[in-house]
Amino acid sequence: MTQPTAPSPQRSDAVRYHSTRAPEGDPGVRFDEALLRGLAPDGGLYLPRPLPPLPEGWREAASPADLAARVLPPLLGSGRAQVEPLLRSALDFPMPLVPLSDDRYVLELFHGPTLAFKDVGARTMARLLAGAAVRRGATVTVLVATSGDTGSAVADAFQGLEGVRVVLLYPRGMVSEVQERQLIRVRPGVHAFRVEGSFDDCQRLVKGAFADPELEGLELSSANSINVGRLLPQAVYYLWGAARLAHDHGVGDDVVVCVPSGNLGNLTAGVLAERMGWGVGRFLAAHNANDFFPEFLGSRVAAYAFRPTIATLSNAMDVGAPSNFERLVALLGDELPERVWGTSVDDATTLARMRSSEADDGYLPCPHTAVGLEAVERYRRQTGDGRPALLIATAHPAKFPDAVRRATGHEPPRSATLDALVDAEVEVRPLAADAAALREILLGLAG
Ligand SMILES: *Cc1c(COP(=O)(O)O)cnc(C)c1O
Repeated sequence: MTQPTAPSPQRSDAVRYHSTRAPEGDPGVRFDEALLRGLAPDGGLYLPRPLPPLPEGWREAASPADLAARVLPPLLGSGRAQVEPLLRSALDFPMPLVPLSDDRYVLELFHGPTLAFKDVGARTMARLLAGAAVRRGATVTVLVATSGDTGSAVADAFQGLEGVRVVLLYPRGMVSEVQERQLIRVRPGVHAFRVEGSFDDCQRLVKGAFADPELEGLELSSANSINVGRLLPQAVYYLWGAARLAHDHGVGDDVVVCVPSGNLGNLTAGVLAERMGWGVGRFLAAHNANDFFPEFLGSRVAAYAFRPTIATLSNAMDVGAPSNFERLVALLGDELPERVWGTSVDDATTLARMRSSEADDGYLPCPHTAVGLEAVERYRRQTGDGRPALLIATAHPAKFPDAVRRATGHEPPRSATLDALVDAEVEVRPLAADAAALREILLGLAG
């Protein structure tokens, strides 16, 4: 494992972005370059170093956008005045903290345009990336493999922005009907492809395209959580949750934070907030049947002993080989098993938790958030740690009507955003899980 501990030759307080695989003494790159590249040339993932400490008074921020404008500028290598308008336009939806019984608090991040927390990272990153592309006078092709929510958030975030076109790859039959409609709705500059294969095949195609010498002339970039530009804004909502806990509920930072996890980008963003000085107690990684990470934490499998993806009800977390594992290892090293506790929840238990949460708490979660609620119960039972729990709620239950019906026997709550989708124009093209087929398409789009 490469530990990014080498001193930077730059000014010691200037943040540089280093690949998780960079050798000691690596000079790193500026934020804009890490953003445009997505993946580092050595195949590693970018991480900022040194991490700037949180600014005084961050808990006093009036909104998520205000908090982002206080915390992110040193990480983006920009002044506050330069990035604040962009952050305000990206983070323009509410992120309420909802108290449940037994000292549990749910941070709802699904009130953006695609009803999932990925709007936070995608909307911010799209604006940053379009700005960087325009400054360079280039058109960037953003290539995204999605297991559902990423693609719709990215497509929505980038549509019609100057300087970027988006190519989405998603696995056939592994996203819900609502998610698929969100993915394939016609948007300016967005092209959706339904891949004959799994999410892992989609990810492999993306990685292959980045390494393909014939595609070198294209400005390829990624918008998956491998792109550090998506990760940074996600650190902000953890701090927003902590600020609301303190102000509205008199709860301090020493809480356990439960993160419904798949590719581990969300959790990595929480760890970044922690490394910047947030005094959080412990993280819980709540996984579905794709259990590589909890198994690793329990020392039952070796690092990087990834697995094929299994399809589940919480399909946005169906990831057998989580990309951000490499970042977590780089950030936490040997502390990883101590700072993060993990568990794997099967579909039957997920449905039972959706049902019991609605019956006992009057709170109907989506399947992903239900995995998180189950993880909190298990953690408390197994460890006796009764500290308050902050749960990241990742998607709106209305996006998963089948799961809601199976769990509760009734229809999901209505959402005007989703109702509007029924009439939207859609367009999708099939694609073989084959590098040559993707190359042809990318070259064709670039004309
Ligand atoms: C993407 C997603 C997750 C998993 O987040 P990762 O950053 O991939 O760990 C959980 N829930 C929902 C609804 C998602 O869209």
